[in-house]
Amino acid sequence: MNRRQALKKMFTTVVAGLLYPLLPKEDPIRSWAAPRPQKVDKKTALYQSHPEDGKMCMNCRHFIPPEGMSSMMEGRGQGTGGMNGAMGMGRMMEGACTIVAGPVSPMGYCRFYERKS
Ligand code: SF4
Repeated sequence: MNRRQALKKMFTTVVAGLLYPLLPKEDPIRSWAAPRPQKVDKKTALYQSHPEDGKMCMNCRHFIPPEGMSSMMEGRGQGTGGMNGAMGMGRMMEGACTIVAGPVSPMGYCRFYERKS
């Protein structure tokens, strides 16, 4: 290595060292392996808390029901009598959605609705 190459390498190392603290603090391997998709806000999704022509979150493939709701939806809930039980449609707990941010009502609807198969 001649003097010119040694100076160039030293300069590159110093510049890289100075710029390193300015890099984002995210784990590059983790973010590369599992990118976290951003969810759409309710306004953009045209979310509404009531069904649209019989289409509602609880029938949508993107709906994540609250814990214990799946058994009620199948009528297996103990003492609740399924969807027609004492809990009632209006008092259901909110679930989540794989597309829309924030809690969503099982009775809600948005433009990303896709019927469960
Ligand atoms: S995509 Fe829309 S309709 Fe489907 S669960 Fe999410 S908020 Fe509800």
